[in-house]
Amino acid sequence: MRDVQIEQMIEKEAQRQLHNVELIASENYVSDEVLQAAGSILTNKYAEGYPGKRYYGGCFCVDEIEELARERAKQLFHAEHANVQPHSGSQANMAVYMTVLQPGDTILGMNLSAGGHLTHGHPLNFSGKLYRIVDYGVDRESERIDYDAVLEIARKEQPKLIVVGASAYPRIIDFKRFRAIADEVGALLMVDMAHIAGLVAAGVHPSPVPYADFVTTTTHKTLRGPRGGLILCRKEYAAALDKTLFPGVQGGPLMHIIAAKAVCLYEAMQPSFVEYARQVVANCQALCDTLKKHGYRIVSGGSDNHLLLVDVKASIGMSGKQAEALLDEAGITCNKNTIPFDTEKPFVTSGIRLGSAAMTSRGFKEKEFEQIGEWIVRALRCTSGSEEIRSLREEVLALTAQYPIRHD
Ligand code: PLP
Repeated sequence: MRDVQIEQMIEKEAQRQLHNVELIASENYVSDEVLQAAGSILTNKYAEGYPGKRYYGGCFCVDEIEELARERAKQLFHAEHANVQPHSGSQANMAVYMTVLQPGDTILGMNLSAGGHLTHGHPLNFSGKLYRIVDYGVDRESERIDYDAVLEIARKEQPKLIVVGASAYPRIIDFKRFRAIADEVGALLMVDMAHIAGLVAAGVHPSPVPYADFVTTTTHKTLRGPRGGLILCRKEYAAALDKTLFPGVQGGPLMHIIAAKAVCLYEAMQPSFVEYARQVVANCQALCDTLKKHGYRIVSGGSDNHLLLVDVKASIGMSGKQAEALLDEAGITCNKNTIPFDTEKPFVTSGIRLGSAAMTSRGFKEKEFEQIGEWIVRALRCTSGSEEIRSLREEVLALTAQYPIRHD
């Protein structure tokens, strides 16, 4: 039976995705093959357990799929063990914490306003409720991680686990340095590479795998896969981690999503993916340079990866919330974001976060990203509802129409 209501709603969203410039740093467009696997009949199958050791019959086909996904993850990231079952990045992080920590143990993570993620210790998140959280930020001047300061905090607080990784940090992270800090204070090291996983896979960002005890990620950001999570770890933790994720955190794995993860990992092994990741970084640079040329203040002065944080408050006296809304009117989608030492509330913010991964998947290059930069500057000078912003919207539409969502 057709559900016309939902069909129409999905179509409406498809049109939005097609006609907008997508700059949300955590989003991307997947290939047709990933989409097909994610929408496949595998959604019908229950498969609690792991390949060869399931709690249900009829798992011989999905066993092969999960085994292949695990092998590809290990091969792509040069890891000793992979668990492809986490439904999300949050559950991946939860599984690691529950593998090595007891409630009340201390986690040292990056604070949210400096770019960290909710699951790294926000008081409203399970991480902040179950564990004792101490945090590190960035240096006030450079707006980059101050590794000496991290070491000092680690020495004082003696965390059992140090969590590295962020949702809004535009610079390369020195994982080797974090390993040294962890070793000095006898802590374990977990790197949440959710945002940069695709860049790591392609070798355009250093890999945390040689240094971390655990590496978690989502599969849907720069890695360009289905929404989901993935955990990599050293062999010695493999059995304990697997047991914590199932039955400790989750029930049955989403086999359709695991198949889609296998496809995305295969795609990420191709030479074309290296080209893609390089272009993501080059495009982000082009956008950054254009905004700087117009006098915008970019947090930390620039970006080394796929995202940048624009201090709109210092640049043009506007809040992140206002900027996000104006850009939305022009058909440019991004999100308001706190910046380091932000004095605005998280729902208002002084910044916006811009990412280049999604539009690079659409085929945008430096020239188009310079154009986006010019549009952003123009849009933020407009009044909401004005003729000017409507005509800008038309220009955005004309360009996006030339770049259909490429499912290759
Ligand atoms: N870790 C980081 C660094 C993230 O940026 C995110 C999501 O944005 C997550 C974890 C959580 O992923 P999910 O939304 O799949 O739970």
